Amino acid sequence: MQLTRKPIKSLRVTVHPPEGEVRVSAPHAVPLSVIHAFVESRADWIKRHQALVRDESPASLDYVTGEQIPFAGRMYPLDVVHRPGRPSVTLHDDARVVLSVPASADRSQRERAVDAWYRAHLDIVVPPLIAAWEARLGVSITEWRVRKMKTRWGTCSIKARRIWLNIALAAKPPECLEYLIVHELIHLLEPSHNARFKALMDQHLPNWRALRVKLNRGNHRQDD
Ligand SMILES: [Zn+2]
Repeated sequence: MQLTRKPIKSLRVTVHPPEGEVRVSAPHAVPLSVIHAFVESRADWIKRHQALVRDESPASLDYVTGEQIPFAGRMYPLDVVHRPGRPSVTLHDDARVVLSVPASADRSQRERAVDAWYRAHLDIVVPPLIAAWEARLGVSITEWRVRKMKTRWGTCSIKARRIWLNIALAAKPPECLEYLIVHELIHLLEPSHNARFKALMDQHLPNWRALRVKLNRGNHRQDD
């Protein structure tokens, strides 16, 4: 749990993708004991929302047959088949995902195979999105990279003009990935999330608020 003191009137608890992190905002005057009691009273709500968040996050998977694996905004049944040699992941008939691994592969090896598949997907879909939006916004970046991030969908280093994308975006609907890319590129025009930033988002991607909600499944904010 992450606690932030803020000049607000009441306690607020939120659950954040991709891993269901719990964050609590509390007024300065509220003692810790009250905060703990409040969080405890919301335990069911927190669990429910964490389940929602994690259902769509590959972080909760064991990578075994019978699980549902998220990819590009849809859930696919996962089949794990044992085969010697290099692990591979393939999408069959747009209906199921087959993960081929040696029988000895542990969870982290299976996860790495899926991560490589996610990265390969992002390598295909991200460059045209970036190129199109660079042209449209009149900005340019020097590079983009993918990495695992626990609490953010993406970041933009304005100085280096570099964008980092969370690998878990490969699991999300394409329009949510596009929203995130537009968000990060607009940071090159406006670094903070102020009124000007929102006006630019409104101008270029009018439905960005709905896409943000979709990306976060009803959670309250997206930090980047
Ligand atoms: Zn941002």
